[in-house]
Amino acid sequence: MKARALTIAELERINYATGIGARNLLDQLSKLAIIASDAHVEKRREAQNCAPCFYLSRYRLAGQAFTHWNCQLCEAPQPMHHNTAVPRICAGCATTYGLCVCCGGDIETENRGRRTGRKARKQKCSPEARQAPSGETEP
Ligand SMILES: [Zn+2]
Ligand SMILES: [Zn+2]
Repeated sequence: MKARALTIAELERINYATGIGARNLLDQLSKLAIIASDAHVEKRREAQNCAPCFYLSRYRLAGQAFTHWNCQLCEAPQPMHHNTAVPRICAGCATTYGLCVCCGGDIETENRGRRTGRKARKQKCSPEARQAPSGETEP
């Protein structure tokens, strides 16, 4: 069976759908590039956020209500948060332990294994340890 020629209107609809798909694809790809390159690393660290929270959860739904919350690590009561999407970790704990305030995970999305001793924490959380990952040797 020979296909009939498409009308201009049909072609316009096809091109319109193709354009939306292509734009969505480009949007997603550029988002992935931003995440993969950690393009806003300074801002992310300033916000004490891990990459998944900073790049993916920025616009998570939140109710407009001032909300009480306690830090999940030190359990200290915190100042009221401006919406219901409260942080998990207080700024003090986040800084001390290198955690994301948003989800309570490692701010550099590094698995810390099961070592819970003082030495392990110190190695993983000090700024020096982060800049020179273990295993690297001086030349
Ligand atoms: Zn805390
Ligand atoms: Zn996070």
